[in-house]
Amino acid sequence: MLSTMQDVPLTVTRILQHGARVHGSSQITTWTGEAEPHRRSFREAAERAHRLANALRDELGVREDDRVATLMWNNAEHVEAYFAVPCMGAVLHTLNLRLPAAQLAWIVNHAADKVVLVNGSLLPMIAPLLPKLPTVEHIVVSGPGDRSVLDGAHAQVHEYEELIADRPTTYDWPELDERRAAAMCYTSGTTGDPKGVVYSHRSIYLHSMQVNMTQSMGLTDADTSLVVVPQFHVNAWGLPHATFMTGVNMLMPDRFLQPAPLAEMIESERPTHAAAVPTIWQGLLAELTAKPRDVSTLTQVTIGGAACPPSLMKAFDDLGMRVCHAWGMTETSPLGTVARPPASAEPGSEEEFAYRLTQGRFPAGVEGRLTGPGGEQLPWDGESAGELEVRGPWIAGAYYAGAGNEPLRPEDKFSEDGWLKTGDVGTISPDGFLTLTDRAKDVIKSGGEWISSVDLENALMSHPDVAEAAVVAVPDDKWGERPLATVVLKEGASADFETLRSFLAEKVAKWQLPERWTIIPAVPKTSVGKFDKKVLRKQYAEGDLD
Ligand code: ADP
Repeated sequence: MLSTMQDVPLTVTRILQHGARVHGSSQITTWTGEAEPHRRSFREAAERAHRLANALRDELGVREDDRVATLMWNNAEHVEAYFAVPCMGAVLHTLNLRLPAAQLAWIVNHAADKVVLVNGSLLPMIAPLLPKLPTVEHIVVSGPGDRSVLDGAHAQVHEYEELIADRPTTYDWPELDERRAAAMCYTSGTTGDPKGVVYSHRSIYLHSMQVNMTQSMGLTDADTSLVVVPQFHVNAWGLPHATFMTGVNMLMPDRFLQPAPLAEMIESERPTHAAAVPTIWQGLLAELTAKPRDVSTLTQVTIGGAACPPSLMKAFDDLGMRVCHAWGMTETSPLGTVARPPASAEPGSEEEFAYRLTQGRFPAGVEGRLTGPGGEQLPWDGESAGELEVRGPWIAGAYYAGAGNEPLRPEDKFSEDGWLKTGDVGTISPDGFLTLTDRAKDVIKSGGEWISSVDLENALMSHPDVAEAAVVAVPDDKWGERPLATVVLKEGASADFETLRSFLAEKVAKWQLPERWTIIPAVPKTSVGKFDKKVLRKQYAEGDLD
Protein backbone atom coordinates (compact mmCIF):
# COMPACT_ATOMS: atom_id res chain seq x y z
CA MET A 1 0.00 0.00 0.00
CA LEU A 2 1.34 3.42 -0.85
CA SER A 3 1.26 6.26 1.63
CA THR A 4 -1.04 9.23 1.35
CA MET A 5 1.80 11.71 1.77
CA GLN A 6 2.79 14.40 -0.72
CA ASP A 7 5.79 13.53 -2.84
CA VAL A 8 7.88 16.69 -2.59
CA PRO A 9 11.47 16.32 -3.88
CA LEU A 10 14.16 17.14 -1.33
CA THR A 11 16.15 19.73 -3.28
CA VAL A 12 18.72 22.44 -2.61
CA THR A 13 16.18 24.83 -4.18
CA ARG A 14 13.85 24.25 -1.25
CA ILE A 15 16.67 24.97 1.19
CA LEU A 16 17.37 28.26 -0.63
CA GLN A 17 13.72 29.30 -0.70
CA HIS A 18 13.27 28.46 2.95
CA GLY A 19 16.38 30.41 3.99
CA ALA A 20 15.33 33.47 1.97
CA ARG A 21 11.71 33.50 3.19
CA VAL A 22 11.90 32.33 6.76
CA HIS A 23 15.39 33.48 7.75
CA GLY A 24 15.84 36.35 5.30
CA SER A 25 17.40 38.68 7.84
CA SER A 26 20.12 36.25 8.97
CA GLN A 27 23.56 37.45 7.93
CA ILE A 28 26.58 36.30 5.98
CA THR A 29 29.50 38.38 7.22
CA THR A 30 32.70 38.21 5.17
CA TRP A 31 36.02 39.33 6.65
CA THR A 32 37.75 41.83 4.37
CA GLY A 33 40.88 42.71 6.32
CA GLU A 34 39.62 46.29 6.39
CA ALA A 35 37.97 48.25 9.19
CA GLU A 36 34.49 46.89 8.40
CA PRO A 37 33.67 43.38 7.27
CA HIS A 38 31.19 42.93 4.44
CA ARG A 39 27.60 42.08 5.47
CA ARG A 40 24.84 40.56 3.36
CA SER A 41 21.51 39.09 4.48
CA PHE A 42 20.25 35.68 3.41
CA ARG A 43 17.50 37.50 1.49
CA GLU A 44 20.03 39.57 -0.47
CA ALA A 45 22.29 36.57 -1.09
CA ALA A 46 19.29 34.58 -2.36
CA GLU A 47 18.26 37.39 -4.69
CA ARG A 48 21.80 37.56 -6.04
CA ALA A 49 21.75 33.76 -6.50
CA HIS A 50 18.67 34.24 -8.70
CA ARG A 51 20.52 36.88 -10.71
CA LEU A 52 23.60 34.70 -11.01
CA ALA A 53 21.52 31.80 -12.33
CA ASN A 54 19.96 34.09 -14.96
CA ALA A 55 23.42 35.27 -16.01
CA LEU A 56 24.84 31.75 -16.16
CA ARG A 57 21.98 30.60 -18.38
CA ASP A 58 21.44 33.65 -20.61
CA GLU A 59 24.97 35.02 -20.98
CA LEU A 60 27.21 31.99 -20.47
CA GLY A 61 24.92 29.32 -21.89
CA VAL A 62 25.02 27.04 -18.86
CA ARG A 63 22.57 24.14 -19.24
CA GLU A 64 21.43 21.31 -16.97
CA ASP A 65 24.28 19.03 -15.83
CA ASP A 66 26.99 21.47 -16.97
CA ARG A 67 29.76 21.72 -14.39
CA VAL A 68 30.32 25.16 -12.89
CA ALA A 69 33.48 25.20 -10.78
CA THR A 70 34.46 27.56 -7.98
CA LEU A 71 38.02 28.46 -7.00
CA MET A 72 37.05 30.62 -4.06
CA TRP A 73 37.58 31.35 -0.39
CA ASN A 74 34.72 31.21 2.09
CA ASN A 75 32.63 34.30 1.35
CA ALA A 76 29.13 35.50 0.46
CA GLU A 77 29.65 35.14 -3.31
CA HIS A 78 30.68 31.53 -2.82
CA VAL A 79 27.45 30.92 -0.91
CA GLU A 80 25.50 32.47 -3.79
CA ALA A 81 27.16 30.02 -6.20
CA TYR A 82 26.36 27.16 -3.78
CA PHE A 83 22.68 27.80 -4.44
CA ALA A 84 22.49 29.29 -7.96
CA VAL A 85 24.31 26.44 -9.69
CA PRO A 86 22.52 23.36 -8.26
CA CYS A 87 19.10 25.04 -8.21
CA MET A 88 19.23 25.72 -11.97
CA GLY A 89 20.04 22.03 -12.54
CA ALA A 90 23.78 22.46 -13.16
CA VAL A 91 26.50 20.90 -10.98
CA LEU A 92 28.65 22.93 -8.57
CA HIS A 93 32.26 21.73 -8.54
CA THR A 94 34.26 23.19 -5.66
CA LEU A 95 38.00 23.26 -6.45
CA ASN A 96 40.55 22.86 -3.69
CA LEU A 97 42.78 25.91 -3.96
CA ARG A 98 45.61 24.27 -2.04
CA LEU A 99 46.18 21.50 -4.56
CA PRO A 100 49.35 21.36 -6.63
CA ALA A 101 48.78 22.86 -10.11
CA ALA A 102 48.99 19.55 -11.95
CA GLN A 103 46.36 17.93 -9.73
CA LEU A 104 44.06 20.94 -10.05
CA ALA A 105 44.30 20.76 -13.83
CA TRP A 106 43.66 17.02 -13.76
CA ILE A 107 40.51 17.54 -11.70
CA VAL A 108 39.11 20.37 -13.87
CA ASN A 109 39.66 18.28 -16.99
CA HIS A 110 38.23 15.15 -15.42
CA ALA A 111 35.07 17.01 -14.42
CA ALA A 112 35.07 18.90 -17.77
CA ASP A 113 34.22 22.18 -16.05
CA LYS A 114 32.64 24.74 -18.40
CA VAL A 115 32.76 27.79 -16.14
CA VAL A 116 35.10 28.70 -13.29
CA LEU A 117 34.05 31.30 -10.71
CA VAL A 118 37.24 32.58 -9.16
CA ASN A 119 38.29 35.08 -6.52
CA GLY A 120 40.62 37.76 -7.87
CA SER A 121 43.34 36.89 -5.36
CA LEU A 122 43.47 33.36 -6.82
CA LEU A 123 43.89 34.38 -10.46
CA PRO A 124 47.67 33.81 -10.38
CA MET A 125 46.87 30.17 -9.63
CA ILE A 126 44.39 29.53 -12.45
CA ALA A 127 45.81 31.82 -15.15
CA PRO A 128 48.93 29.77 -16.01
CA LEU A 129 46.81 26.59 -16.03
CA LEU A 130 44.21 27.86 -18.49
CA PRO A 131 46.01 26.73 -21.67
CA LYS A 132 45.76 23.20 -20.26
CA LEU A 133 42.02 23.49 -19.49
CA PRO A 134 40.31 23.16 -22.89
CA THR A 135 36.78 22.65 -21.48
CA VAL A 136 36.74 25.97 -19.60
CA GLU A 137 34.83 28.50 -21.71
CA HIS A 138 34.23 31.22 -19.12
CA ILE A 139 36.04 32.69 -16.13
CA VAL A 140 33.99 34.84 -13.76
CA VAL A 141 36.09 36.95 -11.38
CA SER A 142 34.99 38.45 -8.05
CA GLY A 143 36.85 40.41 -5.40
CA PRO A 144 40.21 42.20 -5.46
CA GLY A 145 43.12 40.96 -7.60
CA ASP A 146 45.03 41.78 -10.76
CA ARG A 147 42.96 40.78 -13.81
CA SER A 148 45.77 41.38 -16.29
CA VAL A 149 47.15 37.86 -15.68
CA LEU A 150 44.19 36.67 -17.77
CA ASP A 151 45.23 38.68 -20.86
CA GLY A 152 45.29 36.40 -23.87
CA ALA A 153 43.29 33.60 -22.20
CA HIS A 154 41.17 31.44 -24.52
CA ALA A 155 38.25 31.60 -22.07
CA GLN A 156 35.94 34.62 -21.93
CA VAL A 157 36.50 36.73 -18.84
CA HIS A 158 33.60 38.30 -16.90
CA GLU A 159 33.34 40.45 -13.81
CA TYR A 160 31.00 38.82 -11.28
CA GLU A 161 29.31 42.06 -10.20
CA GLU A 162 28.87 43.33 -13.76
CA LEU A 163 27.62 39.97 -14.91
CA ILE A 164 24.81 39.78 -12.37
CA ALA A 165 24.04 43.52 -12.12
CA ASP A 166 21.07 43.90 -14.48
CA ARG A 167 19.65 40.40 -14.35
CA PRO A 168 16.10 39.57 -13.23
CA THR A 169 15.85 39.05 -9.47
CA THR A 170 13.75 35.94 -9.89
CA TYR A 171 14.52 32.67 -11.66
CA ASP A 172 11.95 30.10 -12.50
CA TRP A 173 13.76 27.18 -10.83
CA PRO A 174 13.02 23.83 -12.48
CA GLU A 175 11.44 21.10 -10.34
CA LEU A 176 14.38 18.69 -10.18
CA ASP A 177 14.49 15.00 -9.41
CA GLU A 178 15.99 14.84 -5.91
CA ARG A 179 18.43 12.11 -6.98
CA ARG A 180 20.11 14.35 -9.55
CA ALA A 181 23.66 15.65 -9.14
CA ALA A 182 23.85 18.95 -7.24
CA ALA A 183 27.53 19.29 -6.35
CA MET A 184 30.81 17.45 -6.68
CA CYS A 185 34.01 17.38 -4.69
CA TYR A 186 37.19 15.39 -5.28
CA THR A 187 38.83 13.71 -2.32
CA SER A 188 41.97 15.52 -1.30
CA GLY A 189 44.12 12.62 -2.36
CA THR A 190 45.86 12.04 0.98
CA THR A 191 45.99 8.37 0.15
CA GLY A 192 46.05 8.22 -3.65
CA ASP A 193 44.63 9.85 -6.79
CA PRO A 194 41.74 12.28 -6.25
CA LYS A 195 38.35 10.64 -6.69
CA GLY A 196 35.17 12.49 -7.63
CA VAL A 197 32.26 12.28 -5.22
CA VAL A 198 28.95 13.57 -6.60
CA TYR A 199 26.33 14.71 -4.07
CA SER A 200 22.62 14.63 -4.93
CA HIS A 201 20.00 17.21 -3.96
CA ARG A 202 18.51 14.61 -1.68
CA SER A 203 21.80 13.71 0.02
CA ILE A 204 22.54 17.39 0.68
CA TYR A 205 19.04 17.96 2.06
CA LEU A 206 19.14 15.00 4.42
CA HIS A 207 22.73 15.69 5.49
CA SER A 208 21.81 19.31 6.30
CA MET A 209 18.94 18.17 8.51
CA GLN A 210 21.35 15.92 10.30
CA VAL A 211 23.88 18.74 10.83
CA ASN A 212 21.07 20.72 12.45
CA MET A 213 20.03 18.02 14.90
CA THR A 214 20.64 18.82 18.57
CA GLN A 215 22.79 15.68 18.81
CA SER A 216 24.89 17.07 15.97
CA MET A 217 25.81 20.79 15.68
CA GLY A 218 22.34 21.82 16.87
CA LEU A 219 22.61 25.57 16.16
CA THR A 220 19.79 28.14 15.91
CA ASP A 221 19.28 31.63 14.50
CA ALA A 222 20.65 32.99 17.78
CA ASP A 223 24.04 31.57 16.73
CA THR A 224 26.80 32.79 14.47
CA SER A 225 29.05 30.13 13.03
CA LEU A 226 32.65 30.93 12.09
CA VAL A 227 33.04 28.70 9.04
CA VAL A 228 36.80 28.14 8.87
CA VAL A 229 36.53 24.76 7.19
CA PRO A 230 36.84 25.68 3.51
CA GLN A 231 33.83 25.63 1.22
CA PHE A 232 35.99 23.54 -1.11
CA HIS A 233 36.42 20.88 1.59
CA VAL A 234 33.27 18.72 1.56
CA ASN A 235 30.87 21.69 1.28
CA ALA A 236 32.32 23.30 4.41
CA TRP A 237 30.95 20.29 6.30
CA GLY A 238 27.46 21.17 5.10
CA LEU A 239 27.27 24.47 6.98
CA PRO A 240 26.15 26.79 4.14
CA HIS A 241 23.18 24.50 3.45
CA ALA A 242 22.40 23.72 7.08
CA THR A 243 22.44 27.40 8.08
CA PHE A 244 19.89 28.29 5.38
CA MET A 245 17.57 25.75 6.98
CA THR A 246 17.81 27.21 10.47
CA GLY A 247 18.92 30.84 10.03
CA VAL A 248 22.30 30.43 11.72
CA ASN A 249 24.42 33.48 10.80
CA MET A 250 27.68 32.74 9.00
CA LEU A 251 31.00 34.47 9.61
CA MET A 252 33.24 33.83 6.61
CA PRO A 253 37.03 34.36 6.93
CA ASP A 254 37.69 34.72 3.17
CA ARG A 255 41.49 34.49 2.72
CA PHE A 256 42.31 35.54 6.31
CA LEU A 257 42.96 32.11 7.75
CA GLN A 258 46.06 32.85 9.83
CA PRO A 259 45.74 32.63 13.64
CA ALA A 260 45.96 36.41 14.24
CA PRO A 261 43.05 37.49 12.00
CA LEU A 262 41.00 34.51 13.20
CA ALA A 263 41.49 35.66 16.81
CA GLU A 264 40.62 39.19 15.76
CA MET A 265 37.39 38.18 14.02
CA ILE A 266 36.33 36.08 17.01
CA GLU A 267 36.89 39.03 19.32
CA SER A 268 35.11 41.59 17.17
CA GLU A 269 32.32 39.57 15.45
CA ARG A 270 31.58 37.39 18.48
CA PRO A 271 30.67 34.03 16.88
CA THR A 272 29.16 31.36 19.13
CA HIS A 273 30.35 28.38 17.07
CA ALA A 274 33.28 27.52 14.83
CA ALA A 275 34.33 24.54 12.70
CA ALA A 276 37.76 23.46 11.42
CA VAL A 277 40.46 20.76 11.44
CA PRO A 278 42.74 20.42 14.53
CA THR A 279 45.79 22.13 12.96
CA ILE A 280 43.85 25.40 12.62
CA TRP A 281 42.94 25.26 16.31
CA GLN A 282 46.50 24.44 17.38
CA GLY A 283 47.56 27.65 15.64
CA LEU A 284 44.79 29.67 17.27
CA LEU A 285 45.67 28.26 20.68
CA ALA A 286 49.31 29.38 20.31
CA GLU A 287 48.09 32.81 19.20
CA LEU A 288 45.70 33.17 22.16
CA THR A 289 48.43 32.04 24.55
CA ALA A 290 50.86 34.62 23.17
CA LYS A 291 48.25 37.39 22.99
CA PRO A 292 45.02 36.74 24.93
CA ARG A 293 41.77 38.02 23.35
CA ASP A 294 38.16 38.05 24.45
CA VAL A 295 36.81 34.83 22.95
CA SER A 296 34.06 34.44 25.51
CA THR A 297 31.18 34.14 23.02
CA LEU A 298 32.76 31.17 21.27
CA THR A 299 31.39 28.33 23.37
CA GLN A 300 31.12 25.54 20.78
CA VAL A 301 33.85 24.33 18.45
CA THR A 302 33.36 21.44 16.03
CA ILE A 303 36.63 19.65 15.34
CA GLY A 304 36.98 16.94 12.72
CA GLY A 305 38.93 15.88 9.68
CA ALA A 306 41.65 14.37 11.88
CA ALA A 307 41.74 13.09 15.46
CA CYS A 308 41.42 15.84 18.07
CA PRO A 309 44.42 15.65 20.46
CA PRO A 310 43.25 15.44 24.11
CA SER A 311 45.61 18.29 25.02
CA LEU A 312 43.83 20.55 22.52
CA MET A 313 40.39 19.61 23.81
CA LYS A 314 41.52 20.29 27.38
CA ALA A 315 43.13 23.63 26.51
CA PHE A 316 39.99 24.74 24.66
CA ASP A 317 37.79 23.63 27.56
CA ASP A 318 39.91 25.81 29.85
CA LEU A 319 39.24 28.77 27.56
CA GLY A 320 35.49 28.08 27.70
CA MET A 321 35.41 26.79 24.11
CA ARG A 322 33.77 23.39 24.33
CA VAL A 323 34.96 21.03 21.66
CA CYS A 324 32.63 18.64 19.88
CA HIS A 325 34.62 15.99 18.02
CA ALA A 326 33.24 14.60 14.76
CA TRP A 327 34.38 12.16 12.09
CA GLY A 328 33.71 12.17 8.39
CA MET A 329 35.08 11.96 4.86
CA THR A 330 34.48 13.54 1.48
CA GLU A 331 32.52 10.37 0.72
CA THR A 332 30.23 10.84 3.74
CA SER A 333 29.10 14.44 2.96
CA PRO A 334 30.95 14.57 5.53
CA LEU A 335 29.31 14.13 8.94
CA GLY A 336 29.45 10.42 9.80
CA THR A 337 29.71 10.42 13.60
CA VAL A 338 29.48 13.09 16.31
CA ALA A 339 30.84 12.75 19.86
CA ARG A 340 28.08 14.04 22.10
CA PRO A 341 28.49 12.16 25.38
CA PRO A 342 25.53 10.14 26.65
CA ALA A 343 23.27 11.60 29.34
CA SER A 344 24.59 9.00 31.78
CA ALA A 345 28.10 10.55 31.81
CA GLU A 346 28.36 13.19 34.49
CA PRO A 347 29.23 16.61 33.02
CA GLY A 348 32.87 17.49 33.69
CA SER A 349 33.79 13.94 34.74
CA GLU A 350 36.68 11.92 33.35
CA GLU A 351 34.16 9.51 31.91
CA GLU A 352 32.50 12.33 29.99
CA PHE A 353 35.87 13.58 28.70
CA ALA A 354 36.71 10.08 27.47
CA TYR A 355 33.41 9.94 25.54
CA ARG A 356 34.12 13.34 23.98
CA LEU A 357 37.49 12.14 22.72
CA THR A 358 35.98 9.27 20.77
CA GLN A 359 34.86 9.93 17.20
CA GLY A 360 31.28 9.62 18.47
CA ARG A 361 28.01 7.94 17.57
CA PHE A 362 26.37 7.41 14.19
CA PRO A 363 23.36 9.65 13.66
CA ALA A 364 20.12 8.08 12.43
CA GLY A 365 20.71 7.63 8.72
CA VAL A 366 24.28 6.34 8.97
CA GLU A 367 24.85 2.66 9.63
CA GLY A 368 28.30 1.49 10.65
CA ARG A 369 30.01 -1.87 11.01
CA LEU A 370 33.50 -3.19 11.65
CA THR A 371 35.05 -5.75 9.36
CA GLY A 372 37.96 -7.95 10.37
CA PRO A 373 40.90 -8.95 8.15
CA GLY A 374 39.07 -12.09 6.94
CA GLY A 375 35.93 -10.14 6.01
CA GLU A 376 34.10 -11.18 9.19
CA GLN A 377 31.79 -8.78 11.05
CA LEU A 378 33.20 -7.81 14.46
CA PRO A 379 31.14 -7.19 17.60
CA TRP A 380 30.56 -3.75 19.14
CA ASP A 381 32.46 -4.66 22.30
CA GLY A 382 34.87 -1.74 22.49
CA GLU A 383 37.81 -4.09 21.91
CA SER A 384 37.60 -5.81 18.55
CA ALA A 385 39.38 -3.57 16.05
CA GLY A 386 38.50 -3.67 12.38
CA GLU A 387 37.94 -1.51 9.31
CA LEU A 388 34.97 0.80 9.57
CA GLU A 389 32.36 0.42 6.84
CA VAL A 390 29.35 2.71 6.50
CA ARG A 391 26.20 3.12 4.45
CA GLY A 392 23.38 5.62 4.31
CA PRO A 393 21.55 8.17 2.15
CA TRP A 394 24.41 10.72 2.28
CA ILE A 395 27.23 8.18 1.85
CA ALA A 396 28.85 7.71 -1.59
CA GLY A 397 28.08 4.44 -3.35
CA ALA A 398 30.56 5.02 -6.20
CA TYR A 399 32.97 7.57 -7.71
CA TYR A 400 32.52 9.78 -10.77
CA ALA A 401 34.35 8.31 -13.74
CA GLY A 402 33.98 11.16 -16.25
CA ALA A 403 31.03 12.01 -18.51
CA GLY A 404 29.46 9.00 -20.19
CA ASN A 405 31.38 6.42 -18.12
CA GLU A 406 29.91 4.01 -15.61
CA PRO A 407 30.58 5.12 -12.01
CA LEU A 408 33.67 3.54 -10.42
CA ARG A 409 33.33 1.06 -7.57
CA PRO A 410 36.89 -0.05 -6.70
CA GLU A 411 37.00 -3.18 -4.57
CA ASP A 412 39.18 -1.59 -1.91
CA LYS A 413 36.57 1.17 -1.50
CA PHE A 414 33.28 -0.73 -1.55
CA SER A 415 32.23 -4.08 -0.10
CA GLU A 416 30.40 -6.58 -2.25
CA ASP A 417 27.13 -5.56 -0.63
CA GLY A 418 27.78 -1.88 -1.38
CA TRP A 419 29.04 -0.45 1.93
CA LEU A 420 31.77 2.22 1.82
CA LYS A 421 35.08 0.92 3.16
CA THR A 422 36.50 3.93 4.97
CA GLY A 423 40.13 2.81 5.35
CA ASP A 424 39.83 3.79 9.02
CA VAL A 425 40.55 1.24 11.74
CA GLY A 426 38.88 1.29 15.12
CA THR A 427 36.50 -0.15 17.69
CA ILE A 428 32.85 0.49 18.57
CA SER A 429 31.69 0.31 22.17
CA PRO A 430 28.52 -1.54 23.19
CA ASP A 431 26.79 1.85 23.53
CA GLY A 432 27.73 2.79 19.96
CA PHE A 433 30.78 5.08 20.34
CA LEU A 434 33.34 4.76 17.56
CA THR A 435 37.02 5.07 18.49
CA LEU A 436 39.40 5.27 15.55
CA THR A 437 42.87 4.03 16.31
CA ASP A 438 44.38 4.92 12.98
CA ARG A 439 44.11 4.96 9.25
CA ALA A 440 44.81 1.50 7.88
CA LYS A 441 47.71 3.03 5.93
CA ASP A 442 49.25 4.85 8.92
CA VAL A 443 49.12 2.14 11.56
CA ILE A 444 52.61 0.82 12.48
CA LYS A 445 52.89 -2.94 12.19
CA SER A 446 55.59 -3.96 14.63
CA GLY A 447 56.33 -7.65 15.16
CA GLY A 448 52.75 -8.72 14.52
CA GLU A 449 51.29 -6.06 16.83
CA TRP A 450 49.75 -2.78 15.78
CA ILE A 451 50.93 0.54 17.16
CA SER A 452 48.56 3.47 16.75
CA SER A 453 50.43 6.48 15.38
CA VAL A 454 47.59 8.69 16.66
CA ASP A 455 48.02 7.47 20.27
CA LEU A 456 51.74 8.27 20.22
CA GLU A 457 51.11 11.69 18.65
CA ASN A 458 48.44 12.60 21.19
CA ALA A 459 50.67 11.55 24.07
CA LEU A 460 53.60 13.59 22.70
CA MET A 461 51.46 16.65 22.04
CA SER A 462 50.44 16.73 25.69
CA HIS A 463 54.08 17.60 26.61
CA PRO A 464 54.34 21.34 27.31
CA ASP A 465 57.38 21.77 25.02
CA VAL A 466 55.79 20.12 21.99
CA ALA A 467 53.90 22.17 19.40
CA GLU A 468 53.19 19.30 16.99
CA ALA A 469 54.18 15.66 16.66
CA ALA A 470 53.64 13.17 13.88
CA VAL A 471 54.60 9.50 13.99
CA VAL A 472 55.20 7.35 10.93
CA ALA A 473 56.37 3.80 10.30
CA VAL A 474 59.95 3.12 9.20
CA PRO A 475 61.10 -0.24 7.85
CA ASP A 476 62.92 -2.35 10.46
CA ASP A 477 64.82 -5.58 9.83
CA LYS A 478 63.78 -7.24 13.07
CA TRP A 479 60.22 -5.96 13.64
CA GLY A 480 59.03 -5.20 10.12
CA GLU A 481 58.17 -1.63 11.05
CA ARG A 482 58.97 0.65 13.95
CA PRO A 483 57.70 4.15 14.81
CA LEU A 484 59.66 7.27 13.99
CA ALA A 485 58.62 10.31 16.04
CA THR A 486 58.95 13.66 14.30
CA VAL A 487 58.55 16.55 16.71
CA VAL A 488 58.08 20.29 16.33
CA LEU A 489 59.16 22.10 19.51
CA LYS A 490 57.44 25.25 20.75
CA GLU A 491 59.42 28.45 20.33
CA GLY A 492 62.18 28.65 22.94
CA ALA A 493 61.52 25.08 24.19
CA SER A 494 64.42 22.75 24.69
CA ALA A 495 63.17 19.25 25.60
CA ASP A 496 65.54 16.58 24.30
CA PHE A 497 64.67 13.11 23.04
CA GLU A 498 65.49 11.41 26.35
CA THR A 499 63.05 13.70 28.18
CA LEU A 500 60.34 13.14 25.59
CA ARG A 501 60.91 9.40 25.60
CA SER A 502 60.61 9.23 29.40
CA PHE A 503 57.46 11.34 29.22
CA LEU A 504 56.00 8.98 26.66
CA ALA A 505 57.01 5.92 28.71
CA GLU A 506 54.49 6.97 31.36
CA LYS A 507 51.68 6.92 28.84
CA VAL A 508 52.19 4.02 26.41
CA ALA A 509 53.45 0.43 26.56
CA LYS A 510 57.25 0.12 26.54
CA TRP A 511 57.39 -1.87 23.28
CA GLN A 512 55.58 0.97 21.52
CA LEU A 513 58.19 3.59 22.43
CA PRO A 514 59.95 4.97 19.34
CA GLU A 515 63.70 4.45 19.08
CA ARG A 516 63.98 6.94 16.23
CA TRP A 517 63.41 10.61 16.79
CA THR A 518 63.89 13.74 14.80
CA ILE A 519 63.17 17.42 15.36
CA ILE A 520 61.58 19.08 12.35
CA PRO A 521 60.69 22.74 11.69
CA ALA A 522 57.03 21.99 10.83
CA VAL A 523 54.86 18.97 10.09
CA PRO A 524 54.05 19.02 6.36
CA LYS A 525 50.30 19.52 5.81
CA THR A 526 47.91 18.26 3.13
CA SER A 527 45.79 20.58 1.03
CA VAL A 528 43.12 20.54 3.73
CA GLY A 529 45.51 21.14 6.62
CA LYS A 530 46.01 17.60 7.92
CA PHE A 531 49.37 16.01 8.75
CA ASP A 532 50.78 14.76 5.45
CA LYS A 533 52.27 11.41 6.39
CA LYS A 534 53.03 10.52 2.79
CA VAL A 535 55.45 13.46 2.60
CA LEU A 536 56.81 12.78 6.09
CA ARG A 537 57.56 9.18 5.20
CA LYS A 538 59.32 10.30 2.04
CA GLN A 539 61.35 13.01 3.77
CA TYR A 540 62.29 11.30 6.99
CA ALA A 541 61.40 7.64 7.08
CA GLU A 542 62.71 6.48 3.72
CA GLY A 543 65.69 8.79 3.65
CA ASP A 544 68.82 9.07 5.70
CA LEU A 545 68.01 9.79 9.33
CA ASP A 546 71.24 11.64 10.01
P1 ADP B 1 41.42 12.68 2.55
O1 ADP B 1 41.00 11.24 2.66
O2 ADP B 1 41.98 12.99 1.23
O3 ADP B 1 42.25 13.18 3.71
P2 ADP B 1 38.95 13.54 3.67
O4 ADP B 1 38.83 14.92 4.14
O5 ADP B 1 37.78 12.92 3.04
O6 ADP B 1 40.10 13.54 2.64
O7 ADP B 1 39.50 12.67 4.88
C1 ADP B 1 38.77 11.68 5.51
C2 ADP B 1 39.62 10.98 6.51
O8 ADP B 1 40.04 11.88 7.54
C3 ADP B 1 38.92 9.88 7.27
O9 ADP B 1 38.88 8.70 6.51
C4 ADP B 1 39.78 9.75 8.52
O10 ADP B 1 40.94 8.98 8.28
C5 ADP B 1 40.21 11.16 8.77
N1 ADP B 1 39.35 11.76 9.82
C6 ADP B 1 38.32 12.58 9.67
N2 ADP B 1 37.80 12.94 10.86
C7 ADP B 1 38.52 12.31 11.81
C8 ADP B 1 38.49 12.26 13.24
N3 ADP B 1 37.62 12.95 13.95
N4 ADP B 1 39.38 11.46 13.86
C9 ADP B 1 40.29 10.75 13.16
N5 ADP B 1 40.39 10.77 11.83
C10 ADP B 1 39.52 11.53 11.16
